[in-house]
Amino acid sequence: MAAERFFLELDPPEAALKSLPHVVIVGGGFAGLKAAQALRGQPVRVTLIDKRNFNLFQPLLYQVAGGLVSEADVASPLRQLLGNAPNIQILLGEVDDIDADAKEVVFNDRRYRYDHLILATGSGSSYFGHEEWRPEAPPMKIIEHADEIRRRVLMALEEAEQTPDPERRKLLQTVIVIGGGPTGCELSGSLVELMTHAVEQEFKQLDASQSRVVLIDPGDRVLRAMHPSLSEAAGHHLQKVGVELVLGGRVQSIREGEVVVNLKDPDGSTTSRTIAGGTVCWTAGVRASHLGKLLAERTGCDVDRGGRVVVEHDFSIADHPEIRVVGDLCSYSHTADGKPLPGMAGPAVQMGTWVARDIVARSQGNSHPPFRFLDFGSMAVIGRSFAVADLRGFRVSGTLGWLLWGLAHLAFMPDTENRVTLLIKWLWQIATNQRASLLITGHPNQHMGVEVGLERRELAGDPAAAPAPRPAVAETAPG
Ligand SMILES: Cc1cc2nc3c(=O)[nH]c(=O)nc-3n(C[C@H](O)[C@H](O)[C@H](O)COP(=O)(O)OP(=O)(O)OC[C@H]3O[C@@H](n4cnc5c(N)ncnc54)[C@H](O)[C@@H]3O)c2cc1C
Repeated sequence: MAAERFFLELDPPEAALKSLPHVVIVGGGFAGLKAAQALRGQPVRVTLIDKRNFNLFQPLLYQVAGGLVSEADVASPLRQLLGNAPNIQILLGEVDDIDADAKEVVFNDRRYRYDHLILATGSGSSYFGHEEWRPEAPPMKIIEHADEIRRRVLMALEEAEQTPDPERRKLLQTVIVIGGGPTGCELSGSLVELMTHAVEQEFKQLDASQSRVVLIDPGDRVLRAMHPSLSEAAGHHLQKVGVELVLGGRVQSIREGEVVVNLKDPDGSTTSRTIAGGTVCWTAGVRASHLGKLLAERTGCDVDRGGRVVVEHDFSIADHPEIRVVGDLCSYSHTADGKPLPGMAGPAVQMGTWVARDIVARSQGNSHPPFRFLDFGSMAVIGRSFAVADLRGFRVSGTLGWLLWGLAHLAFMPDTENRVTLLIKWLWQIATNQRASLLITGHPNQHMGVEVGLERRELAGDPAAAPAPRPAVAETAPG
């Protein structure tokens, strides 16, 4: 590797770049990618650091879990998206410290200097203090989670096909989804189709009517963040396609093959109910990336209860105008109603773009209009050709909702190839009722201890170093 091309920060390939401010973006998700794209060709040097080498389109993860599409259809390599921009360098690594006084981030055992830092490391899943549930009930945040859910569901069906005991078969044909937000509804709707249609068409020993998907939520309706009419439409559709709703249910314990919930009775008392299921999935809790708390320790900035960094109008933190925090990692309450913007793709994309433009404007001594969030609404897909959408008060459900959902998701997808592939796979599934990606791959519990980034010993220059085993961590991405 030519020395002059190594590390944009130290030795930019062109002399002209040396005098330009260096923007380090940590996280190439919705917010970080948009920031980098907005800085393409601008008079700044950009380094984008991510612990994965791809941008993940999380809203379609449930389709990977349900075998509708494959991993590569919802992920785009960052180098393909940005690698040809002359002023952007992409580095693979997990940032594990920030020295705000020295203006340096630490990753892969190196310290790396910035003039501006954009932190966009997103969020991960939370088990509300019950981390012991994680092995039994994979969450859905990264590709390995979706793979694991698909693997578990398909393995359970394979085992059921060879099981003479009808009770055991019934257990194996039952999936329990915890959390009735958009992800839980989308996953339930997709899995119930898989569990009934696939079983009907492809498993000789199994009775499709024995397949069950149970959706548990503590609220009195699914999709509580949406208008009640859309919750009702979604709940009605889920039940129509065979999902059993257990509303008002608080999970007490999760063990292999069973979930215990406390249900509130009309008289105010609670009843305990045990639900047996061969596969359990968790979509109930979110926590911000640990870099939020780390930043608070290093700079004294505030974080909210969910670990999100409380930011100023321009997404900076107190006393550090050069540090901006965007996307799921930030709590931005400078809104008309004072409520923080939700942890969703729309706000993340708009924050990333605005912050990038603000940095360019300020570094050139120009002013920049304040951030205004444009709320396009929210939507959730509940099943084949059925979605609910609330577009700033224009509420639709059914096929029209699905068309709007499909268009919006294709528009958001950063990669044209994936856009085309997804459209073809969706149309194929509608026409044939077949799923394109029902492979059983990976190893059991692949959602635990995901290996990401570069091996430290390899980085230290020891060519003989075999990949060193790293201790399993509860969850390594995002967060
Ligand atoms: C299953 C699911 C479905 C969803 N559906 C919708 C939907 O339908 N509509 C919607 O609007 N929103 C949806 N969301 C929410 C949306 O995906 C998030 O709000 C959005 O991804 C947040 O963007 P972000 O850039 O903040 O973080 P992310 O997109 O999560 O990106 C964070 C990036 O940071 C990297 N990273 C993390 N830690 C480090 C580190 N220490 N060092 C280096 N890199 C690091 C990660 O690898 C990742 O690439 C969904 C989320 C999930 C999980």
